Amino acid sequence: MDLNGFDDLREMKVCIQPLGELEEDTPEVLEFLRESLKKLFGDCEVLKVAELPAYAYNPARGQYNSTIILESLKVEKGCDVVLGVVDADLYADNLNFVFGEAEMFGRRAIISLARLRQEFYGLNPDRDLLKLRALKEAVHEIGHVLGLRHCRNECVMRFSNSILEVDEKPWLFCEECLRRLRGL
Ligand code: ZN
Ligand code: ZN
Repeated sequence: MDLNGFDDLREMKVCIQPLGELEEDTPEVLEFLRESLKKLFGDCEVLKVAELPAYAYNPARGQYNSTIILESLKVEKGCDVVLGVVDADLYADNLNFVFGEAEMFGRRAIISLARLRQEFYGLNPDRDLLKLRALKEAVHEIGHVLGLRHCRNECVMRFSNSILEVDEKPWLFCEECLRRLRGL
């Protein structure tokens, strides 16, 4: 990832909060996110793994309710934004699944790696692709936290409802969204 000539968007600290049982390669993904988000937003730290709230689990669906987890996230001292990362599969209200969710103009966001893995689609693992997808979803949800809505440009804030749409969008904000962020 080349960020040469790209100024930090803001002076803020993103805290990555891993939750629940993690896959073997997830720590490496978290470290990649830390390095990338630090370059983008100013500072980033990976917090100690916390438990997933059991009451967020829906046994009939075999999935966790993303909104309930989001609301349970603690904003630790020194963190401007907390980004929950889970390997569990997430759903929300009327949606069969979500890649992530965020509080608009809030402090908290969450992403799931479950459907970002090639294995989910019966394909061979691809860790670099997983990292890139995780970065896109992380930047997208943090964008919502910072007040950005979905965007139709060639932009990380494009709405993605399938893994193809995740792969098609870039990992960075378009000029319009960048201007909005810098103006906030
Ligand atoms: Zn979105
Ligand atoms: Zn945009």
